[in-house]
Amino acid sequence: MPSQRDDCLFCSILREGSYVRKEKGFVAIKDINPQAAVHLLVIPERHVDSFREVGEFPAREAKRMLEFVADTAREAGLTDYRVQVNVGPSAGQTVFHLHWHILGSGPQHADDKAHAETAVVEL
Ligand code: AMP
Ligand code: ZN
Repeated sequence: MPSQRDDCLFCSILREGSYVRKEKGFVAIKDINPQAAVHLLVIPERHVDSFREVGEFPAREAKRMLEFVADTAREAGLTDYRVQVNVGPSAGQTVFHLHWHILGSGPQHADDKAHAETAVVEL
C-alpha cells in the first residue's frame, strides 16, 4: 500500500478492511455520523493530509479517484448528490487524510429506488 501513517484513523480503517466498496487504491465507508440519508466517504489508500496535496497523486490515479467517487454514488442509487471535501480545520476538516464526502437524500427515480435499496443494503 502506498504511503501509510501509523497514527492516522483512515489509514487504520484501510488496514482493517472495514469498507463498503473497494477498488484498487480506493475504498468507500459509511460515515459514522451521517449528515444525510446517504453519507459515504471515499478514501484513497495513498495518505495525503488534505486536498491541498492532491498533486501527489499520479494523474491516472487522480482520475480513477474521481471516477471511484462517481461510481460509488451511482452504485448507492444516487442520481443527484453533493460531493464535499473539507480542506483545513477552519473549513471543517477533522481527519487529516484526504477524503471525499458523498451526500445524498436517496434515489430520485422509481427505477433507481429498487436498485438503491439493494445497493445501499449491500454497501
Ligand atoms: P472531515 O470533518 O471532513 O474531516 O470528515 C471526517 C468525517 O469522518 C466526519 O464526517 C466523521 O463523521 C467521519 N468519521 C470519523 N471517524 C469515523 C469512523 N471511525 N468511521 C467512519 N467515519 C468516521
Ligand atoms: Zn492516513
